[in-house]
Amino acid sequence: MTTHDPDRIHDTLHRERSETVSLIDQLSARLDAVIEATADSSSDDEHDPEGSTLAVERGHLVAQLERSRVRLDELDAASIRVTAGTYGQCENCGSPIAEARLEALPAARLCIDCASRGSARRW
Ligand SMILES: [Zn+2]
Repeated sequence: MTTHDPDRIHDTLHRERSETVSLIDQLSARLDAVIEATADSSSDDEHDPEGSTLAVERGHLVAQLERSRVRLDELDAASIRVTAGTYGQCENCGSPIAEARLEALPAARLCIDCASRGSARRW
């Protein structure tokens, strides 16, 4: 009963996946640079303003990387659902997920009602 075009969804997921993979590459490269810069800076001054800026940036990068990896997993899981024919169906209540929501979040596994009722889980 799905009205989704699997080819189109695969294209969308594939595009999102490529974007996420290149984002992870960029974040990893940036994180490496930050780690290197942190290692280079004199370690005897913990109150070095640049050092703490780097520490903050490092925290952001790690968090962003973590989110991007989760996103990658979700996109892969969505591809499997497309193949299985369960894509676009809420995993919680079984209702169809609104088209607009899938446009915005192609890897969404919950309908908007369950997602807003649910925990911090965005997908
Ligand atoms: Zn639901």
